[in-house]
Amino acid sequence: MRGIINYIKKQLTQNIIDQINSIDINNIREAEIYDELKPFFERIANENEERARAEKIRREFTANVSHELKTPVTTISGYAQMINNGMAKPEDIKEFSKKIEKESDRLLHLIDDIINLSNLDETDSIEDAQTLDLSHITEEAIRVIEKSAKERNIQIFYSHTPAFIRGNATLIGELVYNLLDNAVKYNKENGSITVFVGEHSDGVEFSVEDTGIGIPEEDTERIFERFYRVDKSHSKKVGGTGLGLSIVKHVCACHNAKISVKSEVGKGTIMYVAFPKDTTGLYDLSHTV
Ligand code: ADP
Repeated sequence: MRGIINYIKKQLTQNIIDQINSIDINNIREAEIYDELKPFFERIANENEERARAEKIRREFTANVSHELKTPVTTISGYAQMINNGMAKPEDIKEFSKKIEKESDRLLHLIDDIINLSNLDETDSIEDAQTLDLSHITEEAIRVIEKSAKERNIQIFYSHTPAFIRGNATLIGELVYNLLDNAVKYNKENGSITVFVGEHSDGVEFSVEDTGIGIPEEDTERIFERFYRVDKSHSKKVGGTGLGLSIVKHVCACHNAKISVKSEVGKGTIMYVAFPKDTTGLYDLSHTV
């Protein structure tokens, strides 16, 4: 009797193993399998798809990085050659060196953003987490962008209450700075920016509202993709790299924060970031930045 049971067990197991072995791992969804195995294979299929998607994004990123780096280097090299060959008239030299300086700055900015993004790619958790007062970090970032805002006569209104979150100070600083910088870059002359930081029962809210050019509805999802720009030439003119919002999205993800956009073309844009309760509140105040 025991022998028969063992034989049946072996036979059944063998059937399952045969079915698993016969499956084309790249085409799991098409395979005919026992209902009991379906959830397991569904998970494998999902993981395969996620891996393929990540691989595609990485390949596209590498291709885009090469292209984006090549453009400023080509310009720099072109102007330097003209000066070197004596092809530039003396009165042009000042203008050419200004262009070389501008493109070099762009290149450095781009390299900084690429390094930031690849560091973020390496981690999905926060290192050196400490209790931060978001209103304090925002105040510092406003001080940095004030000069470029003034140059275009853009007014900044800031209302805040102390708002504590748990996070990495450098990354949160990047997030705040990138959103404020965009609010200046894509604003109109004589426009305004309204910044809000506050703590409420669900967590901490941070928002930046501008009176700028706005974002077409069909682009609002895509602006968080690497190198995606609604208007490439406008972004380049204002010194954009196309990576700022990808960095913002990454920083939000590793702080469990949610970012959302509301925008109207020609009227302006609001970016909201919501930090949930579990990443907010008064933790270890001795390390507050
Ligand atoms: P960039 O370096 O080009 O500013 P970002 O990743 O920061 O790159 O933004 C991606 C694109 O989203 C920008 O090129 C711009 O088209 C659009 N964008 C971002 N913020 C705003 C804003 N506040 N108003 C209008 N458009 C914006």
